[in-house]
Amino acid sequence: MLKDNRRHYNSVIDAWSEFMNDNIHFGYYKTEKTTLKESGDELINQMISLTTVKKNHRILDVGCGVGNPAFYLHNKFKCSVTGISTSQRGVEIANETSGKLGLAKSVRFKVADGTRNGFPDESFDIVWAMESSHLMRKDRLIRESYRVLKPGGTFLLCDVVFKCFTLKYIYTLPPHLFRLLALRRGYGNVWAMPKEYYFWHMNKAGFREITSIDVGENSMPTLRDWTDRINREKDTILKKYSQSHLKDFMRACEAMEHLFKKNIVTYVIMKTVKD
Ligand code: SAH
Repeated sequence: MLKDNRRHYNSVIDAWSEFMNDNIHFGYYKTEKTTLKESGDELINQMISLTTVKKNHRILDVGCGVGNPAFYLHNKFKCSVTGISTSQRGVEIANETSGKLGLAKSVRFKVADGTRNGFPDESFDIVWAMESSHLMRKDRLIRESYRVLKPGGTFLLCDVVFKCFTLKYIYTLPPHLFRLLALRRGYGNVWAMPKEYYFWHMNKAGFREITSIDVGENSMPTLRDWTDRINREKDTILKKYSQSHLKDFMRACEAMEHLFKKNIVTYVIMKTVKD
């Protein structure tokens, strides 16, 4: 599963980061006038608003894409950010940008897995997982994040989650059995879980003060903006990327829109603190 996802993100990262405007995540639309670029940055702001980031903080960005959120955090707070991703290509692009911006000392990227990252215990003030948790075993991501956080450190994440499983006992199932019950989307080993599943594992790992905000309504317009942008710039895009890249992306947007509209999924930001 991990190998597939690594291969998937290596092959689509150039195209997807361009289709999505470098922020490889949903946006947060404050008003109808919010633009795609603004919305991507605004989702980062919404996550930030749940915690306090200081200049001397060390942040671990798990699933860093091509580095946009890491650069945004550094620019805003001057803190040090280490981004990790299983996509070699994504890490390459991010490190290139960091070099060009003269930030190589404070914003670094390396290939590592969020579920076994290799960093020492208690080495970060904040672990940040922006729309990457659906690609990993969430129980392992949560345990690993707990391990590398300093006491009192904050774990922040945002992702698409399922709304349809409400039975409490179901979250206590081992992840592989749970996944058998979860709806499987047909591309890239992508899995969403209900937010309660995350909460259950956060509690079990020792986290406290678990909070979440549902931003589904503010995030859904992203799908319309992504597809509009692609339709508008189709000719230019097709000179650089294959028809299948485009088709896969559009199909993913369509599937997501269906799931949002049917109230099967929503978008949630979660925050929790290490005891
Ligand atoms: N957070 C970024 C990118 C989100 S896309 C942004 O908001 O712009 C999801 C990212 O997670 C991709 O970079 C993908 O390569 C990475 N990823 C997938 N599985 C991972 C894993 N097991 N460990 C670390 N990163 C992973």
